[in-house]
This record gives sequence, structure tokens and C-alpha cells, in this order.
Amino acid sequence: MTRYIFVTGGVLSSVGKGTVCASIGKILQVRGFTVSAIKIDPYLNVDAGTMNPYMHGEVYVCEDGGEMDLDLGTYERFLNINVSREANITTGLVYREVIEKERRGDYLGKCVQIIPHITDEIKRRLRNVAEKTKVDVILVECGGTIGDIEGLPFYEAFRQMRLEEGMQNTVFVHVPLVPILDATKEQKSKPAQHSIQELRRIGLQPDLIVARSRKMLDPDPHDKIALFGSIDRKAVFTSPNVRNIYEIPLILDKQGLGDFVCRRFGLSNRKPDWSSWRQIVNSYINAEHEVKIAVCGKYAMLSDSYVSINEALRCGAAAASSRVSIDWIETEVFEKEPNSIEALAEYDGILVPGGFGVRATEGKIAAIRYAREKNIPFLGICFGFQLAVIEYARNICSLENSNSTELNPNPQHPVVFLLPEQNKVSYKGGTMRLGASPVVIKADTLAYRLYGVNLAYERHRHRYEVNPAYIQTLIDHGLIFSGTTPDETRMEILELPNHYFFFATQFHPEFKSRPGRPDPAYYGFIKASLDKKLGNTTLTLDREALYEAESKYLR
Ligand code: GLN
Repeated sequence: MTRYIFVTGGVLSSVGKGTVCASIGKILQVRGFTVSAIKIDPYLNVDAGTMNPYMHGEVYVCEDGGEMDLDLGTYERFLNINVSREANITTGLVYREVIEKERRGDYLGKCVQIIPHITDEIKRRLRNVAEKTKVDVILVECGGTIGDIEGLPFYEAFRQMRLEEGMQNTVFVHVPLVPILDATKEQKSKPAQHSIQELRRIGLQPDLIVARSRKMLDPDPHDKIALFGSIDRKAVFTSPNVRNIYEIPLILDKQGLGDFVCRRFGLSNRKPDWSSWRQIVNSYINAEHEVKIAVCGKYAMLSDSYVSINEALRCGAAAASSRVSIDWIETEVFEKEPNSIEALAEYDGILVPGGFGVRATEGKIAAIRYAREKNIPFLGICFGFQLAVIEYARNICSLENSNSTELNPNPQHPVVFLLPEQNKVSYKGGTMRLGASPVVIKADTLAYRLYGVNLAYERHRHRYEVNPAYIQTLIDHGLIFSGTTPDETRMEILELPNHYFFFATQFHPEFKSRPGRPDPAYYGFIKASLDKKLGNTTLTLDREALYEAESKYLR
């Protein structure tokens, strides 16, 4: 029997609703309950895969290859679970299903309507996840804010779920922003009051409210929110700004949120065991050192574009007793002003992330060359891996006009080209090489030192690959492909032997990095950046820090 917690947002989106949702899950998990989470995105896209990260933040890829909203990454990291593609529900997905059924004749003779057909399909999808995961509690977060037209069918489905599943099995959580005025430093509850009214207008009475504010709610706005929300003072909580988002579950539980939810569900209140979570949080806070990392990409202005990379760096740093300061560098600058590349000299490590399309690419290649020539620790991810191959072909193998056919349809040396199976693909949605697949790791390589196993399952999201026709030339000139697909046809990891740390992966290790369980590639990169900064002649790896990481690859 699964219970449901529905989380809605008020006033503004992007205020940290996903973190609150994941934190409530954690609070239940440390009490011994099993939990999972679903994200609803009321936009018309079928999935997040075709959206620009600049508008909607990063596209998160789960184990089964679903291209999902970034909140799913937050759930996986907080709850240390693997979600499936079914955990992200969009309007596009729901309508597509209903319209297909209508065409098939499943509703023959009926007028197909938002209520009940769309709402039924939404409820079916929610229950389907409950049935498959068999968890005690499922969190269902609806993206956007109350008042959005697109969200209405989903809110209506929540309302019906309460009737069908029963009051004692459903909890409504509302997360409004409570802004603080610059001039008077006053916390204003009025926008939250309005969003609660809007919530009630569509039939949802919140059971508890988590106010999102820069600091803890003052007594006056706290009382007002309780009064206008028609809930007890004790049902109002604050999620304040913090140094480290992993502190949020602890902060909310300290205010009594766990006890409140358990009472509401009629679950015997088990004692929470926060010991291992607290240890993780402390590892983030009590760092001895700091490393400075330059991430050279093109969506540098919106930090949400690369949440998983940021978190993987922070997680790797925590395992190396370090903090990480991350600067996002827009590589178009290096194209316009080649001398500006010297700015990279002040960094302990350089990362080139995944990406698509030609803009800012030559700047990324320039950054990779700089890292290689100046012996600065380098990590390349997906597109960063492909561009490292292009840089090496051009500047070491003397294949001057090397390129990827993604960037130039007809280069002299197509060292990176379209995956053969992609030739027939014309639809853009959900058609890349996606999800986790096996990577074989060669013995006596840096990759093996990092992973400690010879088979890893890593998550992919790409259409292009290293052209097999150039592999031998690249190897003859010193490049090592230390990871491949099991049939050895597809290159997955590259490294350079005479470099402090030069490592790149065709897959996205950031998607499997979790607090307290750093991904080996990110941990190695941060550790190398730190060791080099401290003047150590070679990289030293702490097997203990990697021990946890290894276990996740053993399937
Ligand atoms: N654009 C490249 C490809 O499709 C890299 C993709 C990525 O970095 N995720 O293969």
C-alpha cells in the first residue's frame, strides 16, 4: 500500500521545490520507509530531451535512457535511488497516449475529455510507478506554479487521488516563495497567501506548507501563512538558504516535519537515523583545501544548465577533503580573443562538458589544447571527449583539418562521425544512444586505477562517436583508449600517459555520482587538481574514497 505526497509550488518556479521534495523523501528514508519520487512537467514536450538547457536547465539521463527533468537527478542524489523513465510525466506524454487510444478506438462512442480521460491517464501513470516500485511513500512534484493553465489537469488528478486513495494516504505540500524586501528587510507573506487561495480555488487544501525564503520565517509571516492556509502553526516550515543543499533535510526535520508527516499518515513514528547523512553533509562542509575548476562550455550563464556536473564536482571534492570553486567560462571568448585563454593558467583543473552544435566549439578545443600543453588536469565529458580527439588529431597526429561531422558535414578528416545506427534516424526526440550500457576498462590504465573494476555501467547521451578508421593513428601517436564497448568497436574513455591527468569519457559519469559515493572520474579529476596544486609529483588516490564508488558498477 503506497501513500502519496503531492508537492505544488507557489509564487515563482525554480525556488528549490525539487530540493524540498527530495528532502521530505530523505526524512522518511532515515525513518526506515522506502520512497520514490515522480516529477510532473506540464509542458507539451513529450520529454526534456529536445529542450535547450538554457531555458529549462540540464537534461538528466536515467539508467534506462529516459531524458528527464533535472529534478530527477536531485531525487536520485538525495535518495540514492535509480528512477525509471516513467518517473517523469509530461502533458505531451499523457495527451499522446490518450489520443493514440482514441485513434485505436478504445473510447469508441465516447466524447474524449480532459476530465475524466486525461486525468485518468495521469492517475494511471502515478499508480503504475507505485505498483512497480512498491515503495511505502511516493512523492509527486508538479513543476511550475499554482495558477499555470498547463498544470490544471494534474492538480485535478491530485484532487481526485485524495478522494480515491483516502485522506490518510495523501498529503498535500505547498512550497511558496516568501520574499524579503530589500528596503525594509521585511518578509512578505502576501504572495504566499495568494498562491494558497489559488490552490484552494481548484480544490486543494494544503496539509503543510514549506515556505521558501532566504532566512527562517519570522513569527508574524509564519502566523499569517498558517492563518490564511487554514493550518496549524506547526504545519508551517521554512526551507532557508543554506551553504549546502544537503543540509535541507536536517533543517526541515529539526522543525518537526518528519513527525508531522508520519502522524498525518498514521505511521508509527520511527526514530530517524541521520548518522550517515550527517557524515556526508559534514564532508562537504569541513574541507581542508580548495581547488579552482574552470568549466569551459557554452551555457555558462545559467548554473542549472549543468547541475549534475556541479554536484559531481562537489561530491568528488568532498571525498578529497576539499571544496571546489567552479567558474563557468563561455568559450566563445577564446575564439574572439585568443590571448584570453591565458586566464586558464590560474585554474587547478579544466573541464569541458557535453554539448551540441558548432557555436563556441573552437574555443573549447583551444581550452583542451591549453590543458594538454600546460599539463593542467583535464576532464572531458561526451562532447568534451570528442573534441579532445579532434584536438589530438589536429595538433599531434598532423591531421590538420580534423573535425566532427556534427560540426562540419564534410571535413578532410572526420575523426568523429555519426554512429552508424543513426543514419536512418530522422526524429530528434529520444533517438540518441541513451542510458546505461557496459564499458570495458583496460588493465594497467588510469581508468582502471580509478574504477578498480574491468566493467562499468555508465550513462550515455550522444549521436556521434570516434571514427574507427582513425583509432589506430590516434593510438600510434600516444593516445590511450582505456575504455571501450565490450566488442571494442566504440571508444568510451581516453587518457594520456605523460600528463598529470588527462581523462575524457564518451559517457556522462556525473549522472551516477551521489553524495558519499563519488564517481571515480570526477573524484580522480579533483584529486589530481588538488595534488598538483599542493606540489605532489603524481596523483595519489585514496582507495577508501573510491571503495563506495566501485560497488555501484558491480551489477
Ligand atoms: N553532440 C555530441 C553527440 O551528439 C555530444 C553529445 C553530448 O555531449 N551529450 O554525440
